[in-house]
Amino acid sequence: GNQQRVDANILLLGAHNVGKSALTVRFLTRRFIGEYGDIESVYSRVDRIDGQEICFNIWDSQDGQTLSSLSDKQLQWADGMILVYSICDRGSFDVVQQQLQQIRRHRKPSSVPIIIVGNKRDLRRHRSVSSEEGRLLAMSQRCGFFEVSAAETYHGVLLVFHGLVELVKESRALR
Ligand code: GDP
Repeated sequence: GNQQRVDANILLLGAHNVGKSALTVRFLTRRFIGEYGDIESVYSRVDRIDGQEICFNIWDSQDGQTLSSLSDKQLQWADGMILVYSICDRGSFDVVQQQLQQIRRHRKPSSVPIIIVGNKRDLRRHRSVSSEEGRLLAMSQRCGFFEVSAAETYHGVLLVFHGLVELVKESRALR
């Protein structure tokens, strides 16, 4: 079989304070750490999934990523993207929609799989974006969709990253 190592460059986007760093750190270390610095860099983790070695290279973009600051370099680097909003922050949901539009101008849906993530699910009492809205946006843009809590659980976060790598592998196979 094909047991070559797979490299997947994953770019995290979204507004400030939605939990991009929390998701990255949760995935890399299985832990939740409350506060992070503002260092922007690429982190790597090698996983074995179904006997295949996968190298996740994760670019946790800092920050706020107003439209203009979503750089060509980021857009071209990514094999897959995770667009994060907070379910308690409607403005962050708008940012995801704006970033999607910008991405679509540069990359075809078939060339860069995207998963939309509604984070902070543990704060659902303060929810301002319904699950339905998130799911509909994802469907209309042919993206994956998850609601997770980086603070509470590792499992959901793992599903996001592993799910994205599956999509990246599929999109490569189609090329
Ligand atoms: P970033 O600016 O998008 O990288 O956001 P951070 O990862 O720095 O998180 C912003 C704030 O939200 C921090 O205070 C985190 O502790 C908090 N946070 C992140 N994820 C969650 C979550 O799932 N639930 C809750 N309650 N807080 C979270």
